[in-house]
Amino acid sequence: MSRYTGSVCRQCRRENMKLFLKGDRCFSDKCSYDRRGYPPGQHGQRRSKLSDYGVQLREKQKVRRLYGLSEKQFRLSFQKADRKKGITGINLLSMLETRLDNTVFRMGFVNSRNQGRHFVRHNHFLVNGKKVNIPSYQVKKGDKIELREKSKKIQVITDSLDAIVRRGIPQWLEIDKDKFQGEVLGVPVREDITLPIQEQLIVELYSK
Ligand code: SF4
Repeated sequence: MSRYTGSVCRQCRRENMKLFLKGDRCFSDKCSYDRRGYPPGQHGQRRSKLSDYGVQLREKQKVRRLYGLSEKQFRLSFQKADRKKGITGINLLSMLETRLDNTVFRMGFVNSRNQGRHFVRHNHFLVNGKKVNIPSYQVKKGDKIELREKSKKIQVITDSLDAIVRRGIPQWLEIDKDKFQGEVLGVPVREDITLPIQEQLIVELYSK
């Protein structure tokens, strides 16, 4: 599977918003977007008007990069969301939020979704007492997520849990940071996803 290996800060500048892909650095004055908030490349500072298609494409790319999915993974997620009952755009966001890598990030175990994916892949988490190392695993109401005993001493994780107040925990999750465990209290609804996303544009793009 191909994965983007270039500069992630470039992606923030391209999407014209902070995607918070680098953990602590994103909150520091080293953030590239804060220092150079215009698109990358030779013509980045030129003003250009986007077509309707361009606007839809940028919205899709923004969400795809935010959650760190490849084009193929994102399209498959969209197709699954489309097959579900309800509003496709909201189904899609709900599915992206309930990925295990995003959930451990939202719970505060890690500083970014990329880091969440890394730690999930390396077997640091248990879901309902069982080892799960699939970042796209969909958590559901009642699932208990905990750190494995051997992973509780990892400095990055303890530092991240200490910084939890700064990020806040969404209402659909609960965390007991002293026990290194959290619980999924429900399915995230649209109001729980506070990111500036216009999911309808993605639905329009894929409906062409
Ligand atoms: Fe984006 Fe974080 Fe890089 Fe800033 S530091 S440009 S928010 S990835």
